[in-house]
Amino acid sequence: MSTPRAYRTTRQFGQVIGAAALVAVLIGAPARAGSPPGQPGAPYANMPTLAPIGVRPDRYLPVSADNTPPAIDPAKGYRTQKLGDGLWMVTENAYQSMFLVYETGVVVVDAPPTYSAHIRRAIAEVTDKPITHVIYSHSHADHIAGVNDLGRVPVVIAQEETKRLLLRDADPKRPPPTVTFKDRYTLKVGSQVLELSYHGDAHVPGNIFIYAPRQKTLMVVDVIFPGWMPWRRFAVAHDVQGVFEQVALIDKLPFETIVGGHVSRTGTHADVRTQLEFMNDLKAAAGQALQTTAIGEELAAEDKTNPWAVFDNYIDRVVVKCVNTVTPKWQDRLSGFDVYIWDQCFAMEQSLRID
Ligand SMILES: [Zn+2]
Repeated sequence: MSTPRAYRTTRQFGQVIGAAALVAVLIGAPARAGSPPGQPGAPYANMPTLAPIGVRPDRYLPVSADNTPPAIDPAKGYRTQKLGDGLWMVTENAYQSMFLVYETGVVVVDAPPTYSAHIRRAIAEVTDKPITHVIYSHSHADHIAGVNDLGRVPVVIAQEETKRLLLRDADPKRPPPTVTFKDRYTLKVGSQVLELSYHGDAHVPGNIFIYAPRQKTLMVVDVIFPGWMPWRRFAVAHDVQGVFEQVALIDKLPFETIVGGHVSRTGTHADVRTQLEFMNDLKAAAGQALQTTAIGEELAAEDKTNPWAVFDNYIDRVVVKCVNTVTPKWQDRLSGFDVYIWDQCFAMEQSLRID
């Protein structure tokens, strides 16, 4: 029987190290031949094959066919999707907003600036009634800063935290709401209804659930990403634990279609369950890595008195373990997995340590 490969490799490695040490002693050089300070050194042990943050992959993992959206007519710059009686989604395949047509007018939910200049044309394909109401899902500019493109709208509705943030931001592209609420608000317009509710901080204070009961459609922005890896760091969540609570809550609600405000398609309960399963796997992987990673290993001796360096090294190695744990099961189940898995593991380990 031949010598096992691992043994051979270890023995050869030992011989090389021994020779290098001997040379170092002979010429008086330091025993550790590391890179200059601040520059990349040897990789951590068991480094994942998925490129870490800041390293350009030659190619990203392919997007699944299910998540490849209908083409956008470049002459229009948007497409619409009917969600139910009088309720439509508008999208340019990256952002999503809605409008609801009732007997004498139209309610618009969000106005992403990437296509807000086209929202009135999208509505005109369906009705010539005027926009009477706008609802802000939350305060973030990338979802509402195109609202001035809708013209003057009499009523703008948002949760009171959204008003507080918009008054602070004083952005002329995001005028504050004219109507606010704390927990619940039912908008009845003609025979149409939208139920607005607030479930606390998660993505950002003031981010609301918007439910159209007749159309069984729920819109919650920047929390659910049907078929996709969530945007980096749980969509830059203000409160990661709040995101876990809201995804679990959404799973229990009686919708048939969910509009997440992003990605190439709407979602279903199956998508919400998949995201929750992924998040729970991520939480377990990060928790396990925190418990099984020793502080101070794979760290140069002279850096052990630098607490920032000690923790950078520790957290990196926790995240390496976390990425390795979740990758086999999830890399083909969520489009864009490779793009943000490092971010998610960094956000998860941090939330578990400090929240
Ligand atoms: Zn947002």
